[in-house]
Amino acid sequence: MTASHAADLVAALLFILSLAGLSQHRTSRAGVVYGIAGMALALVATVVVAAQSITAGAVALILLAMALGAMTGLWRARRVEMTQMPELIAVLHSFVGLAAVLVGWNSYLEVESHGTAQTRIGADLLGIHHAEVFIGIFIGAVTFTGSIVAFLKLSARIKSRPLMLPGKNALNIGALAAFVVLTVWFTISPNLPLTIAVTVLALALGWHLVASIGGGDMPVVVSMLNSYSGWAAAAAGFLLDNNLLIVTGALVGSSGAYLSYIMCKAMNRSFLSVIMGGFGIAAPSGHEEDHGEHREVRAAQAAEMLAQARSVIITPGYGMAVAQAQQPVAELTRQLRERGVAVRFGVHPVAGRLPGHMNVLLAEAKVSYDIVLEMDEINDDFADTSVVLVIGANDTVNPAATEDPGSPIAGMPVLRVWEAEQVIVFKRSMASGYAGVQNPLFFRENSSMLFGDAKQSVEEILHELSANNRRDAVPAARQATVVSH
Ligand code: NDP
Repeated sequence: MTASHAADLVAALLFILSLAGLSQHRTSRAGVVYGIAGMALALVATVVVAAQSITAGAVALILLAMALGAMTGLWRARRVEMTQMPELIAVLHSFVGLAAVLVGWNSYLEVESHGTAQTRIGADLLGIHHAEVFIGIFIGAVTFTGSIVAFLKLSARIKSRPLMLPGKNALNIGALAAFVVLTVWFTISPNLPLTIAVTVLALALGWHLVASIGGGDMPVVVSMLNSYSGWAAAAAGFLLDNNLLIVTGALVGSSGAYLSYIMCKAMNRSFLSVIMGGFGIAAPSGHEEDHGEHREVRAAQAAEMLAQARSVIITPGYGMAVAQAQQPVAELTRQLRERGVAVRFGVHPVAGRLPGHMNVLLAEAKVSYDIVLEMDEINDDFADTSVVLVIGANDTVNPAATEDPGSPIAGMPVLRVWEAEQVIVFKRSMASGYAGVQNPLFFRENSSMLFGDAKQSVEEILHELSANNRRDAVPAARQATVVSH
């Protein structure tokens, strides 16, 4: 075994340790460190091996590209807000896809188009090499445009509603069938028009697959694109004859696929339907039902309701992340618990814009883990709760998911907040959530809207609670004075 093989093996082990570490809160920091170490080792080993067979000028170009990439990465990572992480991840996936397309094209131009293929690859492996080029370009291009659409949707540059082209399922299945036929053709007789055709076909398919998926299913799409980017990297690894890239790609591909499967199960979605661009999902009617009037409360009334409450459940959502309200929310929790109110959190698996987004924010605000419960652990307790505070959550508390079979989010499990005695919804307007679906919760008899930025509203409630405390304290102080005289 050469030193480079040993480095590949150690880097692959570090990546496996990294994945294992990232699966739990307590070990996630170590997981990140393993990942960084593995990647640093992989980069050094790759450049050292490459340096033996290329000119000094080419090595200098590689180092320059690495320096530029590292600087851009550092700059973006420092500036990115927590709420922008999914869109950043989508952009990074698109880079992997683009890299796989370029590697595929390079391999085609270098080998197939030069008639030297037979001598360079070996006659017996030539067919496999043709297929690798074709499949690599296909997966890379689907990942590239799919990730760009995901980026545009996640950053709200385009609407998150599903694109419903007529015969969309036939288009997707037709594109896959065309890909199979073209692959066979290319393997027998590789040529430039076929390479261009598969690139265009895959770019269009990637775009269409993700554009056809509605906002509620975007978490699954993001983890699916993560998986595709892994397979694209593995395909590039075959073409570059780089074992580590194959192993790493397969790790990302399979873990991403498994995560997508788990998320589909948690959200009661069909895995096949999501990977086939919303196959079998009907178009939303576009008809907005009239739910009637909504009620509003101010911070003072909300503080009063909380002061009277026996038990409170807080269900945070994306709006808490936007408002950065986690610190005042943690302070409110502390104050209510000091008053003897039982306060817990109910966290939906896709609340926010990242798996575990709310858990990270609550941990950052030092909310104790044991009062932060998963949806399944807390859903039966809402019926026995005095007040629910819905802080910037919308789709994850939408009763239409369980009550309206025609809703685009029908069947998705949600937090059943409406079963509580009182619900206070913290948001800035009556706007719909990420899935673009109106929320009948806002119009329920027991719901009240507290409009405004969530952080500001919670701070106002804290202010009102301490004003109440002072008012309560005054008679007691006076009494004490009388007694002492
Ligand atoms: P939603 O995205 O459905 O709704 C968030 C709500 O927060 C909005 O209705 C908005 O209303 C409100 N809001 C925004 N800013 C503020 C603010 N400063 N103060 C107060 N309120 C604010 O949130 P959920 O967390 O309930 O649902 C997550 C959605 O995101 C789901 O559809 C999920 O599928 C999707 N998603 C999740 C991902 C994940 O991995 N977790 C990844 C990709 C998508 P208003 O504008 O009126 O204030």
